[in-house]
Amino acid sequence: MKLRRNFTLRQLKPYSARCALYGLFVVLSVVFTMCTALSVADFLKILFGTGDAAPVASGNLVAIWLDRLYAWLISFGQLHALLLFAGIIFVLYALKNVFSYLSAIEISIIRTSVVRTLRNSMFRKAMRLPMSYYDNHRKGDVMARFTSDMVEYEEGILGSIQMLLTSIISMTLYLFMLFYINVKLTLFVLCMLPLVAFVISGISHRLKRSSKVVQEMNSYLVSLTDETIGGLKVIKSYTAIDFSNRRFRSYNREYTRRRTLMLRRIDAASPVSDFLGNTIVIGILLFGAWLVFNGDQGLTSELFISYVMLFVLMIPPAKDFSTGFSQIKKGRACADRIEAFLGEEDEPDELLPQKPSVHPHSTPQEVPPDVEFRHVSFAYKPGVTVLDDISFDVPRGTTVALVGSSGSGKSTIADLICRMYTCTHGEILLHGEDILSMPLPRLRAHIGVVAQDTLLFNDTVAANIAFGKSDATRDEVERAARAAQAHDFIMQLPEGYDTNLGEGGGLLSGGQRQRISIARALLRNPDLLILDEATSALDTESERQLQATLNEVLRGRSAIVIAHRLSTIVGADCIIVLDHGRIVERGTHTELMALHGRYAELVALQSF
Ligand code: ADP
Ligand code: MG
Repeated sequence: MKLRRNFTLRQLKPYSARCALYGLFVVLSVVFTMCTALSVADFLKILFGTGDAAPVASGNLVAIWLDRLYAWLISFGQLHALLLFAGIIFVLYALKNVFSYLSAIEISIIRTSVVRTLRNSMFRKAMRLPMSYYDNHRKGDVMARFTSDMVEYEEGILGSIQMLLTSIISMTLYLFMLFYINVKLTLFVLCMLPLVAFVISGISHRLKRSSKVVQEMNSYLVSLTDETIGGLKVIKSYTAIDFSNRRFRSYNREYTRRRTLMLRRIDAASPVSDFLGNTIVIGILLFGAWLVFNGDQGLTSELFISYVMLFVLMIPPAKDFSTGFSQIKKGRACADRIEAFLGEEDEPDELLPQKPSVHPHSTPQEVPPDVEFRHVSFAYKPGVTVLDDISFDVPRGTTVALVGSSGSGKSTIADLICRMYTCTHGEILLHGEDILSMPLPRLRAHIGVVAQDTLLFNDTVAANIAFGKSDATRDEVERAARAAQAHDFIMQLPEGYDTNLGEGGGLLSGGQRQRISIARALLRNPDLLILDEATSALDTESERQLQATLNEVLRGRSAIVIAHRLSTIVGADCIIVLDHGRIVERGTHTELMALHGRYAELVALQSF
């Protein structure tokens, strides 16, 4: 509870000056509203000609000032007094509206700024979270936090805070004035208020829980839609449209039912409080009339009417107060979800102090290998070992190939080098330095990865190649594209390097997309190139062409090549054969063939 309140307060803190200004404008607009309500007493006196020449004896300042105003107005004669009165009311109303407009401007600036800042932090967070977060959370759930939770937060929390603030300020001012006019009557009103509060809190009690359920169901709906649209081809080809539709409809039905239930609770708050407010007005009319007959505290009939008007004016803020109160309950569930997301642990980027090397290289002048794995073990989930005691190195300028059946841990090795995950045991060195002691951006700047599926953005070819290196010149982009042998086909696109690729690079063939990602990797001029099944998704002909390009690219570079088709790695300086997360063989192609072991077996399987 305490944490949560702090969360929103923390968001509001930078805008405290604006909040104060907002409060001031609200106060001014309420003051002018009160003035119009009070001056009704004078209007009645002018209209009915009931004004007393002698001022009221009581020390009630309001009564005295109203009397003075009346005396001044009536000195112009009844008709002119009425016209003047109309003029005064006009000005007071105009002022009231000017200030409520100003307060509205302030609050909307505060609201939108808070949401903008929050959204920025969430986006940043989404990128800084470790990959393991996304292994354990639905994408749609994350999306929902950005969309519906955010809207709900703005309306539920920020909107309610605005309502509560405005209504508290107004009610305080009105109550103060009501007390000033007549204490007994106001005490009578106050005695009835707890009754209202009791009823309202009963309604809003269960709101928060039901809101949380609704919000979670909503995030599931977003996931479902996202998955369906993403996998539409599969759904269509399996003629699973009816199935997907049925699943969605039944879920949507349940979601709607719960949401209706929740909205009903919210909607009940307002009419109930309205009804109760009106009941109190009747009580005031009866009790107040009795006080007027007794001349209590100088309460004249005109002043009493002003009193009733003030009270009626207090009903909307009181209603807002109860609505705000119940909405804040609803919004809290979203605030929790947003806060929880922002509170997630970032990708670990702690810098370990540089440890002295356990196995120092023989002479200090000797160049350490570009990558070195020392007894590395890793498990995604505790207990399920994926890599077991892996040791190997990639000497500068050489190509090391990782082979093994699917699921043997090849991609995991690549992920560990980039620190997408942190290894459980052992250490990984880059240029002789423990990667745990390097800041992530520096580590990743050394590495260029080309994976099986390419990620192309809805942007121009040039921007896609220069991705992650925004200061790259067109020359550099072109050089990288030439090295990846992508230049020729890029020039044939309608607008060359400025052609927009559309979502997911739909314009290009698989081989072309892959060349763009190779160009992207080469532009960074990485010390280490990792190719994870870079050619696997291609047909034999495109693969053969791309392989020729890669052979060019790899010459003289340190690289780790993961390949499914063994024909593509025959020339590697060292081939490492993985099986169930362990290294079972290593050597060149000829050495491994002579061994007649696992590698020879894999080759035999493929030469079918
Ligand atoms: P390869 O690339 O050799 O096909 P991977 O390195 O992708 O194999 O996977 C090795 C093992 O780790 C597999 O058993 C796979 O199920 C598991 N694995 C891969 N990624 C994850 C993940 N994000 N969370 C949990 N387990 C994973
Ligand atoms: Mg893989």
